[in-house]
Amino acid sequence: MARKEIIIAIDGPAGSGKSTTARFVANKLNYIYIDTGAMYRTVALAWLRSGLNFLEKEIETLLPNLHIEMQQGEAGQIVLLNGEDVSAEIRKPEVTKYSSSISAFGSVREKLVAQQREMGVNGGVVMDGRDIGTVVFPDAELKIFLIASVKTRAERRQKELMAKGHDESLESIINAMQERDKNDSSREISPLRKAEDAIELDTSDMTIEQQCDFVISKASEILKYI
Ligand code: C5P
Repeated sequence: MARKEIIIAIDGPAGSGKSTTARFVANKLNYIYIDTGAMYRTVALAWLRSGLNFLEKEIETLLPNLHIEMQQGEAGQIVLLNGEDVSAEIRKPEVTKYSSSISAFGSVREKLVAQQREMGVNGGVVMDGRDIGTVVFPDAELKIFLIASVKTRAERRQKELMAKGHDESLESIINAMQERDKNDSSREISPLRKAEDAIELDTSDMTIEQQCDFVISKASEILKYI
């Protein structure tokens, strides 16, 4: 019998190390990595380009014609919006700013959650986001909830932005992050919160290697028994 492939849900606030950990773990296990934040960012980008008002009923009109595809490229995940590679554009600060507010709309979440469930239906995925362990895959075999101090998270984000040629002060990143954390944790639908059966890991003083080793060892324990 072929070995069962599990679902690994990695949730947590911005900059807690989710994507780096999820990508590494997926590579190691030969699983598919799905960055659900990139999907919300893509909706925000489509809205920014549309010229519509920031109202759910207007944004809803965009949804039927919005096709988001996630592909595994050589240098990481590629996000396609109606066939166009928007992987770099969705990381721009303006898109980041609106991605959190747009993700609070029920119609947006409904569309993306349905797509995420389809992508993970056969297991063999590592999915990161805010609501993967609570809403998208409440039965995921392994749930990890990553946290880290806001300063650590902002420093990580600043480094990432610098590597992509975006210069932003630590203070403005901290402010934007706190605002986004507040929105993500306080929204009515699918707020950011730890699932009861998730393992919480504070990554403030951990290296990426240590984070990844931790998740891999938890996954290996589960894979032994299924
Ligand atoms: O993870 P990332 O920072 O790229 O996500 C962008 C935004 O998308 C977050 O601020 C959050 O509001 C939203 N998001 C969400 N649910 C997810 C993933 C991301 O609401 N599963």
